[in-house]
Amino acid sequence: MSGLGYAPFPLVLAGPSGTGKTTLARRLVEGSTDFCFSVSATTRAPRPGERDGVDYHFVDRPGFEAMVAKGELAEWAEVHGRLYGTPRQGLELAVEQGRHVVLDIDVQGARLIRNAVPDALLVFVLPPSVEALIERLTGRGTEGEAQVARRLQTALDELRAVPEFDHMVVNSDLDKCLEAIQGIVRAETRRTARARALHKDVETMRARIARLLQTEYANASR
Ligand code: ADP
Ligand code: 5GP
Repeated sequence: MSGLGYAPFPLVLAGPSGTGKTTLARRLVEGSTDFCFSVSATTRAPRPGERDGVDYHFVDRPGFEAMVAKGELAEWAEVHGRLYGTPRQGLELAVEQGRHVVLDIDVQGARLIRNAVPDALLVFVLPPSVEALIERLTGRGTEGEAQVARRLQTALDELRAVPEFDHMVVNSDLDKCLEAIQGIVRAETRRTARARALHKDVETMRARIARLLQTEYANASR
């Protein structure tokens, strides 16, 4: 059989802020030839250490609105008072490269991607406990108390969306959670409905068997 024949698809990681989506997404793409990261556009200010074009495309509101007007975003949403969106270009590049593109986006964005890209795989990332979620939100040191409260308020609604997702994982131990996500992706890749390219390989295999039956095995008693 020639090549793998497996079609890549976008992998959406969504879930409450602070569950570890960004950490998981970064670990998935690190040194990987199977995964790449979808760099979102946002109007929020960079946090210390964040790099423009790597972590996010940091733009002002008029710049973001221009991207929307030009149809450059596959989805966009307002999250915690800021605008966030997924550039189409990143999704297209991933298809060209034959990689799964990882989207670290909120639940509204996940719903929009489900409609725009039906073969996207939606994975909900849960924290192991409310205490762990709060600890991670505060431990990150990037949000004040008001922002933490805002994120918990959003988490209330987001957790209601779990049944809309294809899979759910609990990010307790980071490595185990990564393995779980990789396992889900491996299994989904082999779902017959997804493996479009593989169908061609199967047809080639059938044609070859049919030819052999007419030639080399033509006189064999069956
Ligand atoms: P999100 O992208 O979902 O908002 P982050 O990836 O920024 O969350 O993670 C929030 C904080 O939790 C970070 O400080 C990160 O290092 C930490 N973290 C992520 N995953 C784990 C884990 N499995 N165990 C402990 N801490 C974690
Ligand atoms: P943060 O400001 O903590 O990086 O992200 C805040 C929230 O916005 C997170 O839930 C994150 O997943 C989400 N987010 C990041 N990029 C996008 C995007 O492109 N689209 C949508 N809809 N949400 C995003």
